[in-house]
Amino acid sequence: LRDLLRQLYLENQLASKDILYILNKVDDSNKEILFNYAEKTVLKTYQKKVYLRALLEFSNYCRNNCYYCGIRNNNREIKRYRLSVKKIIKCCLLAYQHGYRTFVLQSGEDDFFKEDILIKLLQRLKSNHPEAAITLSIGEYPYKSYQRFYQAGADRFLLRHESISKELYKKYHPDMSYSRRLQCLKNLKKIGYQVGAGFIVGLPGQTNKILTEELLFLKKLNPDMVGIGPLIPHPKTPLAGSQTGSVDKTLLLLSLIRLLLPETLLPVTTAVNTLDKKGWEKGLKAGANVIMPVISPAISRGKYEIYQNKGNTDVSNLSEIKKRVERSGFKIDMSRGDSLKCLKTK
Ligand code: SAM
Repeated sequence: LRDLLRQLYLENQLASKDILYILNKVDDSNKEILFNYAEKTVLKTYQKKVYLRALLEFSNYCRNNCYYCGIRNNNREIKRYRLSVKKIIKCCLLAYQHGYRTFVLQSGEDDFFKEDILIKLLQRLKSNHPEAAITLSIGEYPYKSYQRFYQAGADRFLLRHESISKELYKKYHPDMSYSRRLQCLKNLKKIGYQVGAGFIVGLPGQTNKILTEELLFLKKLNPDMVGIGPLIPHPKTPLAGSQTGSVDKTLLLLSLIRLLLPETLLPVTTAVNTLDKKGWEKGLKAGANVIMPVISPAISRGKYEIYQNKGNTDVSNLSEIKKRVERSGFKIDMSRGDSLKCLKTK
């Protein structure tokens, strides 16, 4: 195991059977070796910088029915909301005034937000804050729409592929298409976005063999960002009562992703910090370098319930975040924080 971890650290790649071997063998007695290599790697590529992104969840309407997600269309028990364009702009301004230079606009797949509304929103945000980066996380749209969003000012796009296993994808995403999801990622890349992919950790049926495929898929896709997080089954979904995804396993996977993709931007996602009060700290020590505080306004607090007990961070609560990041030996960087890969190709 030690030899393989060292080889992965030095070469940033490994054969499928070796990744599977690591996933099968790494445990509490040896995981520190992996974490140390991942931390060394992130320090080499991004030094001690931890980038902050202001995450605004602007609508919880969704046409889809993902088996794990609390805002799925069939869940009639949550209160739906959508923020107006004016409110979204106001929230981003507030985040900007607190120093944020990346706005992540996330929502369910909400048919209300047609191309024209989103374009108007993007143009206004870009003209208000030309130096800030805008990340969209709004799901699947046709190629042309993605292209228009890009031209209107969107810089980045997060679209988790959710599961690389065709079988699991089909099982947990009724009425959605595995190949369309992957095609969307390809389209986004082709258009020029900084692209984020990722998967859920702990979906029932997910084996180490599937996780090996996840890691190799990411290596091949070479995205600018990778978002992974543990499954937190929502009680009003078909996966209610399933086992919660493991934070420890997520941390191991974060480290492996860091070693396979040294330059990728890797957030400690909200789900990790929801399950573990020290989630941010542990994630950073495992090779992550991005934190995405939720900045949604009071009127929507608690309603973007993809899972329960999801914390919202006050935009102004930067000192608490700073304290936690610094205690882990890192420092906050409030710049746009583009991916190194994208900066090199500019
Ligand atoms: N609709 C957009 C999309 O499809 O990309 C973005 C919003 S979606 C709610 C954001 C992410 O939340 C998904 O990619 C999924 O991985 C994650 N998610 C949803 N429900 C979850 C749950 N119960 N536990 C963990 N992650 C969850």
